Amino acid sequence: MNAVTKLLRELVARPSINPAFVDDPVVSGEERVAELLIDRALQAGLDFRRQPVLPGRKNLLVRLTPSGKAQRRIILAPHMDVVPAEANQFKPVIKNGRLHGRGACDTKGSMSAFFQSLCDVAKSGRRPQQTEILFVGLVDEECNQAGSRKFAQAGPKGDLAVAGEPTLLQTVTAHKGDLWWRLHAQGKAAHGATPHLGKNAVHTMARVVDVLETEYAKQLRLQSHPLLGSPTCNVGLMHGGTQPNIVPDDAWIDIDRRTLPGETAAGVWREIRTLLKKHGLKATYTDLKGVDSPALETDPNLPIVQEFLRSSRRRKTLGVHYFTDAAPIASGGTPAIVFGPGNIAQAHTADEWLDLKQLDQATAIVTRFLRVQP
Ligand SMILES: [Zn+2]
Repeated sequence: MNAVTKLLRELVARPSINPAFVDDPVVSGEERVAELLIDRALQAGLDFRRQPVLPGRKNLLVRLTPSGKAQRRIILAPHMDVVPAEANQFKPVIKNGRLHGRGACDTKGSMSAFFQSLCDVAKSGRRPQQTEILFVGLVDEECNQAGSRKFAQAGPKGDLAVAGEPTLLQTVTAHKGDLWWRLHAQGKAAHGATPHLGKNAVHTMARVVDVLETEYAKQLRLQSHPLLGSPTCNVGLMHGGTQPNIVPDDAWIDIDRRTLPGETAAGVWREIRTLLKKHGLKATYTDLKGVDSPALETDPNLPIVQEFLRSSRRRKTLGVHYFTDAAPIASGGTPAIVFGPGNIAQAHTADEWLDLKQLDQATAIVTRFLRVQP
């Protein structure tokens, strides 16, 4: 078993469930992962520091300083948290060239590849002359991305950040953003025996849902981004009324509106409000997330992105449909891409696994990229 596979096996064996989902000190929190990486960093002669994010939760920053004056900074940024899992998913199993276990592909595979590359370059004695390499183990990606939001705001900034996610070794420069909103329709309560004396909020909301699912969906399909396609809107939840003999005075739905680069909350609300008004409907909205989740769009022609592509022996960048830490990091002023071994299809599943050949390839790609840095 090679070093990067061993590292992945040890990382998977250390549960790091996001405490927002499961609050049990035996399996929750990113600290067990951070401790292992700190131990390895010290062995490789790297220095580290912690960046407090939430109570008891800190980003881990491990740094390889250049031999000369730093002119450039590359940031390798996988997240340390995983989604909930059964106890046996923290007992990694290697079978037929795959490592099975929670986090294997999302995203301890990327973490192992990035960290191993950093250690290999550090130990090789051929560190870059002008480029600082900063590994950032982020907390809380699976919930609110508090780790990357804090890092974007507190710094340091860099010339390129690589967020670790299973992209099948493709370089991702774009993904959609999202808005989670609750839409309320107001009615007027009345006795169920005299419905004509009230105004039924459920009926209003049913019509709102119909407009969103038909006319609005059609309108969204007219917009298109070369890497991302069209924005979408999903009505995921509906609630209204209290019991059969009362005319409901309130009804609400929760929507997930996936945005393209450039779309803003204000713009989306204008769009929806105008459409509802056209149908004589009225609703209000509240934001369910409380944090901004913009789309990612990094220029694929940036020389440093092209350098990364060459290291990965590919020519084209890709867009994906899921949200990542790259967007908050990019909002902070560091051009960001997403890259890593594994397939997003295996992320969050009961039998999560990673192809170990891809793990080796990812390590080779990142190492190549680090070695060509000035
Ligand atoms: Zn992930």
